This record gives sequence, C-alpha cells and structure tokens, in this order.
Amino acid sequence: MLRTDVIVLGAGMVGVSAALHLQQRGRSVVLVDRRGPGEETSYGNAGLIQREGVVPYPFPRDIALLARYAFNQLPESNLHWSALPRIAPWLLRYWRASTPAEVAKTARGARPLVERCIIEHEALMAPAGLLGLVRRTGYMRVYRSASALEDALDKQRVDREVYGVNFEPLDAAKVAALEPHLKDTIAGGILMPDPVSVSDPGALVNGYATLFEQRGGRFEQADARSLEAGRDGWIIGTPRGPIAAAAVVLALGPWSDDVFRPLGYRFPLGIKRGYHQHFKALGNATLNRPVLDAEFGYLLAPMTRGIRLTTGAEFALRDAPPTPVQLARVTPLARDIFPLGEKAEPAPWLGRRPCLPDMLPIIGPAPSHRGLWFNFGHHHLGFTLGPVAGRLLAEMMTGEKPFTDPSPYRAERF
Ligand SMILES: Cc1cc2nc3c(=O)[nH]c(=O)nc-3n(C[C@H](O)[C@H](O)[C@H](O)COP(=O)(O)OP(=O)(O)OC[C@H]3O[C@@H](n4cnc5c(N)ncnc54)[C@H](O)[C@@H]3O)c2cc1C
Repeated sequence: MLRTDVIVLGAGMVGVSAALHLQQRGRSVVLVDRRGPGEETSYGNAGLIQREGVVPYPFPRDIALLARYAFNQLPESNLHWSALPRIAPWLLRYWRASTPAEVAKTARGARPLVERCIIEHEALMAPAGLLGLVRRTGYMRVYRSASALEDALDKQRVDREVYGVNFEPLDAAKVAALEPHLKDTIAGGILMPDPVSVSDPGALVNGYATLFEQRGGRFEQADARSLEAGRDGWIIGTPRGPIAAAAVVLALGPWSDDVFRPLGYRFPLGIKRGYHQHFKALGNATLNRPVLDAEFGYLLAPMTRGIRLTTGAEFALRDAPPTPVQLARVTPLARDIFPLGEKAEPAPWLGRRPCLPDMLPIIGPAPSHRGLWFNFGHHHLGFTLGPVAGRLLAEMMTGEKPFTDPSPYRAERF
C-alpha cells in the first residue's frame, strides 16, 4: 500500500492551495479529486480575488424585502419552494447570523484572511509563472439611479471607517472613462480599487495543481467517499490501489458533507447555487474589469471565453436539476448596460457556493477524529481565500505558529 503524509480530498482552489502549503512544509501529499483540478465551483466563478470582501452578504431582515425574495421578485435571488422543508433550518440560522452585531463579528473574523488574500495568491502565482493572469484594475459596481448610488456610498463610507475597505465614488463621466463600452443607462458607480481579477479561474487552479505536481506532489482521480479510518490513520481507495496517510484534509467544497456526515458530523453546510453564461460582445466592445450591476445583483466579467455573466444566489437543493431562471431575468438587464451579442455556449454552467450560516469557513482539526482536518465552507469567497486558508491550515497541521488566531474558523462553533 502507498503511504503518504497527507491526503487532501478535493482539488478546487481550496484543496490545491492547501496541498501546496503542506508540500512547502516538507509533507508528502496526495491530492484526490473525482475530476481534474479546478473543474467545479473554482472553475465557473467570477474570477475576483476580493481584497475588499470583508463584510459578508447578510440574509435580508427587512420583512417587505424578505417577502420579495421569498416570491422570487428580485433577480438577484431565486428560491425553490420545494426545497424549503430541507433548507429552512439553515436559512433560519443564516437569518440569525445576519443581525448587525453578528455581521460585525463575521467581518472581524474574515478580515485577517481577506487582508492577505492577494499576497498569498501572488506567493503561489510567482513560482507557478502565473502572475501574468492577474488584472489589477479592481472592480466596479454600477448604479442606474442616483438615489441607489447615494445609499450605497453611505454604506461604503461606514465599511471604510470600520473595516478599512477602500473605494472611489464615480460619476457617470468617470464610469465612461474607465469603461467606455458601458451604455449611458448608468448614473454612476463605485470603484473597488484593491481587488484583482483573472480571466480564467479554472486555469489558475490548474496552474497551481501543475506546480504541485512539478514539486513532486501526486494527483489521483478517486472518490473521496471511499475514505476509511485505519488503525493508525486514514485510507482511501483509488483505481491504482489504496493509499494510507496519518492525516487527511477535507476540502470538498459543496460536497464536504458527503464525507463528514458518514463520520458523524452535522455541520450546517448550506448551498447558494449560481449560474454563468458567456456571451460574445458586439463589435469591438470590451470590459477592463468585472462590473456588478448592483441594483440587480449580477456581474459581467471579461474572460478568455467571452463576457461571463454570473448570477446571484439560488436557494435550492445542491443536486436539484438546473433552473437558470435568473439568467433569463438578468440577460435583458445586462443588455441595457453593455452591448452583449450571442451566447458563446448552448447551456449555462451551474455552480454551488458552500456556505455555513455565519459566512465563515471551517478551518482546523476535526473535534472527534485524530488526523482529520477541515477546510471547507468558503461561501462567496473560496476563490479569494484558497491560498490564505491553505497557509493557515498547513501552519496548524505542522505545529507552526499560525499567522492569525484560527479560533473564528473552528469546527466547534457549530
Ligand atoms: C456564480 C459564482 C460566482 C463566484 N464568484 C466568486 C468570485 O469572484 N470570487 C471568489 O472568491 N469566489 C467566488 N465564488 C465562490 C467560489 O467559486 C467558491 O467558494 C470556491 O470555488 C469553492 O472552492 P472549493 O475548492 O471549496 O470547492 P470546489 O472548487 O467545488 O472544489 C471541490 C472539489 O471536490 C471534488 N469532489 C466533490 N465530491 C468528490 C468526491 N466524492 N470525490 C472526489 N472529489 C470530489 C470536486 O470535483 C471539486 O473539484 C463564486 C461562486 C459562484 C457559484
């Protein structure tokens, strides 16, 4: 039987980054995925490394707004009523975690990770030869009404004051100067200057996985659900035979419960589904950065395959068939602000954001199993946080002093 120090389950941004950090600390690592690296959620996201993303998306607490969400009247959200009996307990916990005091607590927990997100990405991009993928143009939120812009600026001023989140207000002329192909339906915007973005998120994960293999790491295609506790560690079955390790990292993103539930854990891992569709741009139209149409909750991101339109959240069962109604609702709205041409592929992509109710990940040791480590639940920010979370986990696993207090992310909080 092959023996290694650590098996990492899941080769999305979170798992690949953890594997690289463990390897950097002298551990032999086998990285396992049933597909290739970076082919699921970490492939289809908006490609933003969200240096500004300290304050989480709260669950709406205003009753009138809640009713509009519940009846699918707002394009940024879609609820499957048939899923309610199963997801209601998680929604209730998310709602409870969305009071101003709880949101502030989450933001304090997120800040040390978010503050280092670009630094930790660059520390992997440089040796992988991938720094050229990064676009350092920030991202822009645009508003169609002056009143919506004013409200957003008020909130932004508070976030700057309390959490140090930078922004620049933009009038219509400044929006046009930065993004000349946006239409004049826009009253103004807010530039978030600190985040960076990439034009092919899957390629970035794949490039990190290549670096891992070049440095002697081994990638195996196998089903993580075959994981078993052995006498002195963990064993996983692969087509090339079983692999044993003293330690295992669970980084299966939205599928993490497929492994933690059989081991007896009941973490409230919920799913916010999201879609993307690429469009060709008309004529020579381009975008220099991702643009969020803030009043309608969708984003346009320039990607190698075209303009990627990504949607807000769909509250549904993880494995329910796709229902891309949000794409149908927002595509005409997107055409109002940018000259989108035809679709670049026949069917939209469906992804699943892995979300714990307090919108913080679980990073750290499993409470009841020796050698089992968790790294999942990175919600809207898994692409952003993969490298920094990988560093923190590897420091904890190897007995180094963690760069930040890991207690906000401990499993025992649930
Ligand atoms: C529309 C949309 C836009 C987003 N935009 C952004 C953004 O701009 N910035 C940002 O930071 N985040 C964004 N996110 C969130 C981000 O994409 C996720 O948080 C992140 O990709 C999660 O990474 P992960 O590695 O945990 O999961 P994944 O990337 O899903 O990786 C999990 C891996 O586990 C594997 N797996 C599952 N089950 C098994 C099994 N039984 N055996 C073996 N392998 C298995 C899968 O094949 C997969 O490769 C967005 C998400 C969506 C849906």
